Amino acid sequence: MTSCATPRPDAAAPDAPMRRGACPSLAKPMQTGDGLLVRLRPATRSLAPAELGALAVAAERFGNGILEVTARGNLQVRGLTPANVSGLASAIGEAGIAVAEGVAIETPPLAGIDTDEIIDPRPLAFALHEAIAALDPPLKLAPKLSIIIDGGGRFHLDDIIADLRLKALKTEDGVAWLLSLGGTAHAARPVALLDQREAVSGLLAVLRRLAAMGDAARGRDLDLEVAKSELVGRARPPAASILSAESAVPVAGLHTLADGAAVLGVGLAFAQADAASLTAFLRKVEELGATEIRLAPGHGLFLLGLDREAAAIAQRLAFSLGFRIAPDDPRNHIATCAGTGACASAMMETKAVARLMVEAAPELLDGSLTAHLSGCPKGCARPSSAELTLVGAPSGYALVVNGTASVAPSVYTDANGLKTALAHLGALVRKNKDAGESARSCLTRLGAARIAVAFEQG
Ligand code: SF4
Repeated sequence: MTSCATPRPDAAAPDAPMRRGACPSLAKPMQTGDGLLVRLRPATRSLAPAELGALAVAAERFGNGILEVTARGNLQVRGLTPANVSGLASAIGEAGIAVAEGVAIETPPLAGIDTDEIIDPRPLAFALHEAIAALDPPLKLAPKLSIIIDGGGRFHLDDIIADLRLKALKTEDGVAWLLSLGGTAHAARPVALLDQREAVSGLLAVLRRLAAMGDAARGRDLDLEVAKSELVGRARPPAASILSAESAVPVAGLHTLADGAAVLGVGLAFAQADAASLTAFLRKVEELGATEIRLAPGHGLFLLGLDREAAAIAQRLAFSLGFRIAPDDPRNHIATCAGTGACASAMMETKAVARLMVEAAPELLDGSLTAHLSGCPKGCARPSSAELTLVGAPSGYALVVNGTASVAPSVYTDANGLKTALAHLGALVRKNKDAGESARSCLTRLGAARIAVAFEQG
């Protein structure tokens, strides 16, 4: 995969306003409330523990000492200044971390070793990346355009939004790729079933059509019939469903693959880790035998190479350092954006409110629903709908039930009433939940009006 270890920072970029929808790369950092932000997509999505450790050290030296893993499994360094972005770029180069360039092509975090996957999607992802890079003139595509190539498996990407998605399906004569447009796998519009040998050319044809619509066009903007017309003669009609039979397994936990290999999944608490804790953790897991770190959606890391005993030791260490290590950790079920102090648009200290929610309303966080805490209506942490979304507002906090951060809220509370409002939501579930019923089912049964009343009483 074409990569660039040390992109030369554009000296003018930090002062220039970012175009909406652009990506904050090393070459074009984004101005946020706590300085410049750089997002990195490692070319292989796999790092040695020492490489990630070097990045954590660089985040402390050049940024604010916080390293983030995004909801899509990318890395972010915050709190940079225009003068020290080049230092970060040099440190990344010296660490040997290759940074992916061009269109984001994403594969599941354990691609190639997930023994439940239908096919390893990485060769197709590589071939597509090479084919796109070889186009002359290059395609002018939306900066945030993303392509998911998903071979299935326990850690599939059905819940991740993509512009274009190729999902492996078993067919009578082997494996085919179902191409779909926009959204999560659940919401995506199926276009066609492509054989392995037609997958790259078929996807390129659709990408060309998108590029012809302008460099802001996204998968959701492409007419389904137009997309199908690009594939006449080289594709079959789409299958009825592209959803995996099972939901993706949560990253946090100690997993055993079908071949007996142990994989330790840890999550960053509210998407962030301080550099000192992460560095200490990585040094120790390397001593224990970890050979590879895979970045994972949901702000996670997979550690490979540990035997079961070493993985258990590493898991206990991760817990002591504040990482999420288990599927039932209530923090797994809260999505937060950067919040005040880190984003100029924020009207909520999202990480602090997340901690408050864990303390005041643990009943909500049984894993059946996602609570989304958004500093403003843009909803960066979760573009899709959530059962409960708390949005920062000029005069307090707004609650959206079953919607995105940008829809009209059901109810508001001021800052003083927030803890009580959250506690009332928790109590609503605790007092009304039937035996064995989930928080989500209980809230659905009670309805948005009852939820709003409970919150408002805060
Ligand atoms: S949702 Fe709003 S406050 Fe949060 S990171 Fe995005 S723009 Fe900033």
